[in-house]
Amino acid sequence: MNSTPAASPGQTGPDTTPPGGPLSVTDRTRLRRHAERGKTDRDDLYEVLDAGVVCHLGLVMAGGPVVLPTAYGRRDDTLYLHGSSANRSLLAADGKQVCVTVTHIDGLVCARAAFNHSINYRSAVVFGVAHKIDDRSERLQALEAVTEHLIPGRWAAVRSPTRKELAATIELAVPHAEASVKIRTGPPADEPEDMDLPVWAGVVPIGLAFGAPQPDPSAPPGRDVPAHIAALTRRYGLPGG
Ligand SMILES: Cc1cc2nc3c(=O)[nH]c(=O)nc-3n(C[C@H](O)[C@H](O)[C@H](O)COP(=O)(O)OP(=O)(O)OC[C@H]3O[C@@H](n4cnc5c(N)ncnc54)[C@H](O)[C@@H]3O)c2cc1C
Repeated sequence: MNSTPAASPGQTGPDTTPPGGPLSVTDRTRLRRHAERGKTDRDDLYEVLDAGVVCHLGLVMAGGPVVLPTAYGRRDDTLYLHGSSANRSLLAADGKQVCVTVTHIDGLVCARAAFNHSINYRSAVVFGVAHKIDDRSERLQALEAVTEHLIPGRWAAVRSPTRKELAATIELAVPHAEASVKIRTGPPADEPEDMDLPVWAGVVPIGLAFGAPQPDPSAPPGRDVPAHIAALTRRYGLPGG
């Protein structure tokens, strides 16, 4: 992991680094608080994005700002979001600056002092101009990316969208034009004078877990759980577990 900014902290404007290069730091992606927790390696961004289940899409609509949770997928340096063709926020986002965040909570950090409590986390903030995808094959690629992001191996196993289903759907592409990653790890950071207080201190890990698959009751009995569904239960575990 690399926490060295790749460009001048005062740099403004979109990230112009080539795909795969380090994230450049722009005025709005430069971490002011706890800058040492920032990561500028693009692989760190991919790791945080790829491990997430939902993102939050933030944009300014006619009535003011709105931030909504939604599913997403990633291909190279583009995030894909999808929804109903009547989805107000996706429609409003077309051609506009948006902010997409992905957050993982990895642990509750219990300090000796109330002030020093914290959360271990990995989070990514992506800024970019979103655009609605019109090209049919690109739309299918976007839907595949979202499906595969949630359930790797699913796209090839299921029926493809029909023309009617595509007409009921909208897909949005958000390039990783500017992005930042912030990660907190480790134990609490208490003051030296608090270290001998008779208070339990440490980290309680938090992880995302999948339970045993529950077959649809209306499906014929005896159908095996496919490998790509069974694999979900191995996808996440507790940090350090
Ligand atoms: C689960 C979780 C819980 C948190 N709880 C708190 C809390 O209770 N109080 C608190 O003050 N902070 C908390 N934070 C940190 C918070 O996200 C901000 O980083 C922090 O509040 C600094 O805010 P700021 O406006 O000064 O950011 P600045 O440092 O001014 O932000 C500048 C730029 O840095 C980047 N950036 C900032 N924060 C993040 C981030 N988390 N991930 C990726 N990029 C980022 C963005 O591009 C942003 O535009 C939490 C973070 C997470 C993930």
